[in-house]
Amino acid sequence: MLKILLAIFVLFAFVLASAQSKPESAPPNLGQLNIMIARFAPTQIRVDTSHLINGDQQALAKLIQAARILNPLFMRQLWSQNLATYDKVKLDRTPLGEARAHYYWINKNPWSELDEHRAFLPGVPPQKLPGANFYPENMTKSEFEDWLKTLSKDEQDLATGFFTVIRRDTAGKLRVVPYNQEYQADLEKAAALLREAAALTPNASLKKFLNSRAAAFLSNDYYQSDIDWMDLDAPIDITIGPYETYNDELFGYKAAFEAYVNLRDDAETNKLAAFAKHLQEIEDNLPEDPQYRTPKLGAAAPIRVVNEVFSSGDGEKGVQSAAYNLPNDDRVVQLKGSKRVMLRNIQEAKFRSVLIPIARRALAPQQQADASFEPFFTHILAHELMHGLGPHQIIIAGRETNPRLELKEVYSAIEEAKADVTGLFALQYMMDHAKEMDLTGILPADEAAERQLYTTFLASAFRSLRFGLNEAHGKGMALQFNYLMARGAFVARPDGTFGVDFQKIKPAVRDLTHELLTLEATGDHDGAKQMLDNLAVLRPAVKAVLDKLQGVPVDIEPQFVTANEIAPDPNAPAPSAPAPPPKRKAGKQRAVHG
Ligand code: ZN
Repeated sequence: MLKILLAIFVLFAFVLASAQSKPESAPPNLGQLNIMIARFAPTQIRVDTSHLINGDQQALAKLIQAARILNPLFMRQLWSQNLATYDKVKLDRTPLGEARAHYYWINKNPWSELDEHRAFLPGVPPQKLPGANFYPENMTKSEFEDWLKTLSKDEQDLATGFFTVIRRDTAGKLRVVPYNQEYQADLEKAAALLREAAALTPNASLKKFLNSRAAAFLSNDYYQSDIDWMDLDAPIDITIGPYETYNDELFGYKAAFEAYVNLRDDAETNKLAAFAKHLQEIEDNLPEDPQYRTPKLGAAAPIRVVNEVFSSGDGEKGVQSAAYNLPNDDRVVQLKGSKRVMLRNIQEAKFRSVLIPIARRALAPQQQADASFEPFFTHILAHELMHGLGPHQIIIAGRETNPRLELKEVYSAIEEAKADVTGLFALQYMMDHAKEMDLTGILPADEAAERQLYTTFLASAFRSLRFGLNEAHGKGMALQFNYLMARGAFVARPDGTFGVDFQKIKPAVRDLTHELLTLEATGDHDGAKQMLDNLAVLRPAVKAVLDKLQGVPVDIEPQFVTANEIAPDPNAPAPSAPAPPPKRKAGKQRAVHG
């Protein structure tokens, strides 16, 4: 499964890198490094934990401590010299040394994620190692593949498994080492803390998951704990363990450790449940030929809305996850499906640090105030739900098939655009029927709410377009943007900003929804391709706005204020230490880093 939007971010990294490409291989100087760091807006992450009962309060502290252990563990996974190099960098107290240490912590290694993983320090490999520290540094792909052929089927499964590293024995021969051996000391410490937390929480599903995940850390068998994670339903919602394989660029086999310590967002969970009750009614009223509608929708994949208290390891590297889909073990997915966890407060932090500055540059002054987080997040929820609506099983000339197979390489962009615009349609439908649907108090439905929905969507369009058009979300957004422009629903103003025509936007959204659903229902590859060729382009007026966005942060650098209060970082500078003499730049606060 994909870490949500990772594709976009990787692509965006690429765009940024080429925008400010530095052909010379010299590491960045202080000025350059400060510009690189400023792409991440320092943002305080605070979460109200007062509603947690006492046992959960104590469990939360243990879980933050367990999650902290994964930071150095993850750094070891990236590079054998990572921790030693980081420690050395931290000793350099010059402004350049401090900037390097700061950026090191953001990236969790000396290679810059937003700059194609190029080194920002001297004396380290120029590029992140494709096999990270999962394989011997001097091992080639073909050496691994040749060795694999000499192994039994069971040994092959271990060698290519998620939870093993490959090392050399004293004779230089490759061998498999399981995570519970390679990272034994750290995993034992983390497992003990998970068990302590399990003893403290009164919640049965959390207790069960923490105990089985602790057992997995020691046994290296994660299967049962992945199943228990699917069943987890508790005020404390935690994801902790080895998950994503993106850091293994050699084969994509090896899972990196990460943790997200979250609290369930009950208000948003209720909103989601309220929307879910009406999905069939929305399906039955989609603007498409009734023969294409699904008479009985299947069960939707579970979505959890949470607020992140703390994240670590791969979950706190570079660009922050806004949501994730797990687990990755196909056996668990077949049995239990997968779960999508949406990090509401992280999305809000990104909204404030990235989307509001975009709105100030891209929107007409009188509309800027309407760009707001509530409709932004509600639309993201609707987008996710709408992936489940519309044509899924279709019949083309008597043949049973699906839109993905028929639309092929243009499917993702069409499906992303469909989820966006059908999301707008569905929210408008629910606003129009809020009383009958019992959504009063859950979904604001007045004229101001409508204005905010469409204006926020316009602002977020620029955020997506900024990522470029090489990827499905950007392409899908360009298609919608140009369609809505052509219909007069989005309007370019003489001053270079954009606005929404609230009379024209509703019929335009309805018609675009109709067109995209019909392309999917009829498996019309050529029609879809033609529509993308015509509309998934960046026109000059949009380019001019994107040019104005330079200097707007790309993402946030989280500062876990609440987590640091609940379970202080033992490696952070002591807060009670006497105030240091004033330094050059008082305004430039450094994150509290481990
Ligand atoms: Zn989507």
